[in-house]
Amino acid sequence: SDYPLKRQSEFSWRIDPFGKMRVPGIVYADEQLIEAMDDKVFEQLCNVATLPGIVQAAYAMPDAHWGYGFPIGGVAAFDADEGGVVSAGGVGFDISCGVRALRTGLTVDEIESRKTQLADALYREVPVGVGSTGRIHLNEKGMNAMLLGGARWAVEQGYGDPADLDHIEERGCMRGADPGEISARARKRQQDEMGTLGSGNHYLEVQRVAEIYDSKIATAFGLQENDAVVFIHCGSRGLGHQIGTEFLKYMVLAASSHHLELPDRELACAPINSELGQAYLGAMRAGINCALANRQIITHLTRQVFAEVLPEADLTLLFDVSHNTCKLETHTVEGRKRKLYVHRKGATRAFGPGHPDIPEVLRAVGQPVLIGGSMGTESHILAGSSQGETLSFNSACHGAGRAMSRHQATKLWKGRSVVDELGARGIVIRSPSMRGVAEEAPGAYKDVRAVVDAAQSAGLARKVARVEPLVCIKG
Ligand code: 5GP
Ligand code: MN
Ligand code: MN
Repeated sequence: SDYPLKRQSEFSWRIDPFGKMRVPGIVYADEQLIEAMDDKVFEQLCNVATLPGIVQAAYAMPDAHWGYGFPIGGVAAFDADEGGVVSAGGVGFDISCGVRALRTGLTVDEIESRKTQLADALYREVPVGVGSTGRIHLNEKGMNAMLLGGARWAVEQGYGDPADLDHIEERGCMRGADPGEISARARKRQQDEMGTLGSGNHYLEVQRVAEIYDSKIATAFGLQENDAVVFIHCGSRGLGHQIGTEFLKYMVLAASSHHLELPDRELACAPINSELGQAYLGAMRAGINCALANRQIITHLTRQVFAEVLPEADLTLLFDVSHNTCKLETHTVEGRKRKLYVHRKGATRAFGPGHPDIPEVLRAVGQPVLIGGSMGTESHILAGSSQGETLSFNSACHGAGRAMSRHQATKLWKGRSVVDELGARGIVIRSPSMRGVAEEAPGAYKDVRAVVDAAQSAGLARKVARVEPLVCIKG
C-alpha cells in the first residue's frame, strides 16, 4: 500500500495523522484482508479523518471496501459542541439498510422436504426486484404516521406482534424523525414500496444453524445447531435513496457557507448544529423508520408464508440491526462520557453486555450482530463486546464486503449457472434478475469467515453461531 499503515496489534492497523487529518485512521483486519483492501479505502479513511469535530479516530471494519465518500465498513463519531458534522454520504444512500434474524421454531429436517415449496411461496408473496411495489398504498397521513412510527406503526397496522418491538434497535421507532423534511418526490417514490425487498444485495434467506461457537450466548439468543432461521436484509427503498440524494446536494451547495473545506465533494456534510444538519438528521431518522417498518412488514409476509407451507412454524424475532445510520450515543472517551453522533456506514452497532440500550431480554450477553456472507456461503451471528466501546464506538463489520465490482462480477459469472451450481448444493435461489445474481455471485465477496474472525480477534464482537443458506430470495 502507498499509505503509511502501521501495525498496532495483530488485528489493527493505524495511519497516523498527516496533512489535514485531525485524528488517525484505524483499520481492523488481518494481514490478508489488509493486503487485499483497495488503497481507496485508506484514502477515504484519511479524508474522513479531516472532518471537523471528529473524535478519536476514523475507523474501517474488516469488511471495508470503498464507497461514496466514506468507505463502506466505515465508522466515525462527531461531537456537535466541537463543530462536529453530519454527512449524508457517511450514512449511505440506503438509510438504515439492515438485517433482521428470526427463529422459526423448526429444525432443518422439518423443512427440508418443503424447501422448494417454501422458496416459491416466499418469492410469490414478498415483492422483490427493481421498482417492485407492494399491496400497501400510503396516503399523506399514512406516510407521515409511518415516518414517525417505524416498526411500531407497522405493528399498529397489524403487521406482526407488539413483542417484536422489544427485539429491534430503538424499540422499533427512531425518535426525532421529522416528516416535514421529506420531499414530495421521496414520498411519491415510497408510496407503493412498503414491504418490498428491493434489488441487488437485498435478500430473504432461510438458513440452517450449522455450528454454535458460544453456547451460553446462543442459548440466550434461542439458537441451537440444526435450527432453521430466517434473515431479512433490506432498507428504506426509494425513500432513503431520495433523502440521501437531495441532502447530499444541499450539503455540497452549503459547504462554503458553513466554512467547510472538503477534500472530496463526496464527503459533503453540514455542522450538526446548523439548520441543514438538523434537517438532515430529522429526514434520516424518518428514513430509519421507513426501513424498520419495511422489515417489519416483510416479517409479517414471511410469517404468512410459513403459516401456509409449514403451519407448525412459530417465527419469533431474534433481533433487527441497521447498518447505515448516524445515531446520537453516549460513549466514554478517555474516561469522559460524551454524547457523539456516530456514523456507521456498512457497519453494525455492537453494544456489549449490560449496555442499557440493549433490550432487557438480551442485555446480559450483548447485542446480536448479524453478518451476511453471500447467497452461497455461510453467514454469521455475533454478539457485541465490552471492549468494543474503546475500539470502535461499539461497532463491528456488516458483511463479508465486496471483493470486486458488480461489473467485474458479471464478466466472471452467469446468473443462470450460479443458480444451477447452488441448486446442486441444495441451495434454492429465486430472483427476478439473473444479471443481479451474477453481480452477487458468492465469489464476488470476500471470505466472510476471515472477516468475522478478524472482528472477533480484534475484540469488536464475539462469534456465536454460523448459519448456512437453504433458500435465498434475492433482489
Ligand atoms: P450491503 O449492506 O453492503 O449491501 O451488504 C451487506 C453484506 O451482505 C455484503 O457485504 C455481503 O457479505 C452480504 N450479502 C450480500 N448478498 C447476500 C446474500 O444473498 N445472502 C447473504 N447471506 N449475505 C449476502
Ligand atoms: Mn445492507
Ligand atoms: Mn441496502
